[in-house]
Amino acid sequence: MDLKSLVRTIPDYPKPGIMFRDVTTLMADAQGFKATIARLCEPYRTEPVDLVAGIEARGFILAGAMADRLGCGFVPVRKKGKLPWKTIQQEYALEYGTDTVEMHVDALSHGKRVLLVDDLIATGGTAGAAVKLIRRLGGEILGAAFIVDLPELGGAKLIEAEGIKVHALMAFEGH
Ligand code: AMP
Repeated sequence: MDLKSLVRTIPDYPKPGIMFRDVTTLMADAQGFKATIARLCEPYRTEPVDLVAGIEARGFILAGAMADRLGCGFVPVRKKGKLPWKTIQQEYALEYGTDTVEMHVDALSHGKRVLLVDDLIATGGTAGAAVKLIRRLGGEILGAAFIVDLPELGGAKLIEAEGIKVHALMAFEGH
């Protein structure tokens, strides 16, 4: 099944020069969504995953379905100010300025084996911050899975430089 053709590309969104890779069209397709979850889970089916950590917001949709399929739990990585309990925070650089992601302090305990998931990796800023949060909580990261990689932006390389294997279902040229 050709999953790439189910991803909608929106030129110049949210700003000129960005090709927005919209996975909602892939998720809306029953066969496409099923195949996406199966392929994202494929490398980890025999791995001892304790938790899937999903990055807000599209990462939640994938991580929830993957956790169910892998028979493990789900924990959220959220933008600042959204989580109700005590959190740890990690700032990361954007093109202009910074942003912050958070996890609950008790989202995972020391030694938990965690799979990190988001819809897309671009510069790797968001996923890199999530890696730091999981490691600060004592988690061991088994891998990082994405539907889309934008290799020209170098994010996957950054995550691999952290010693984490990146699994992406497809790549697009450009930004
Ligand atoms: P980054 O931190 O640069 O790796 O950006 C990754 C986050 O931004 C992911 O949560 C994506 O959903 C979103 N994102 C970045 N670039 C794009 C793009 N071209 N199309 C769709 N989403 C994007």
